[in-house]
Amino acid sequence: MPDVAGFRRVAEQATGKQVREVRVHDAQVLRGIGADAFERALRRRFFAEPRRHGKWLLIPTAAAANASAAPPTLLVHFGMTGNLQWCAHDEELHAHDRVVFDFAAGELRYRDMRKLTGIHLAREQAEVDGLLADLGPDAQRIDAAEFDSRLTRTRRRLKPALMDQSVLAGLGNICADEILWRARINPNRSTAELSDGDLGRLHREMREMLRVAVRAGRIPDGASWLTGHREEPDRRCPRCSSALRRLRIGGRSTLFCPVCQPG
Ligand SMILES: [Zn+2]
Repeated sequence: MPDVAGFRRVAEQATGKQVREVRVHDAQVLRGIGADAFERALRRRFFAEPRRHGKWLLIPTAAAANASAAPPTLLVHFGMTGNLQWCAHDEELHAHDRVVFDFAAGELRYRDMRKLTGIHLAREQAEVDGLLADLGPDAQRIDAAEFDSRLTRTRRRLKPALMDQSVLAGLGNICADEILWRARINPNRSTAELSDGDLGRLHREMREMLRVAVRAGRIPDGASWLTGHREEPDRRCPRCSSALRRLRIGGRSTLFCPVCQPG
């Protein structure tokens, strides 16, 4: 999700600008619409202020002055490998540039290697609502009371609950590990046995971690962050220097400190 916050800032460069044309280089990233219809629907539209919900980026459009149809909204999901780039017209096309939005001032390019997710075009607000209907509140904006009630509504292991986008939207695997480590809570604990103190700490650390990460446009990986040590051969806790442990929880590789985060 911090990445998507960064892509939102990239998309902002197109805000208020009119699309001259859309070039679909690989229609596999389009969801529920063909390349021709996609290009037609967006040509001459103005891009409006983008916003983020969880891992989704929404880019509403405004109609050209003489258009009759309601302006559509782009919903972009980046999967594991997607990103947005703002490029000069003469910058060489990257092999993974799938869709290019051409503006007079430059090009917005959707670049994605694995094409796991992609771009939807919602023609009306009801379609936007439908696509986002299964998502919980955004992790950066949820308040402590709602966080507590949503997280503890069902008895389950904590880490998969944090990553469940219908509980709260935005946290991926590495984010969840970082937050649990900062809050000193074992990822395997049950949501039902968390104390009020645990929940308060978890919410606070999540908000603080996201505040820094969203500003950076990625999860910080400096020496004082767990994430900075994920790929080291001899992984040590940056707080207590104990050997970190790796477990599979809910099918995902989970890194934690057995001393700071006792079970
Ligand atoms: Zn530790």
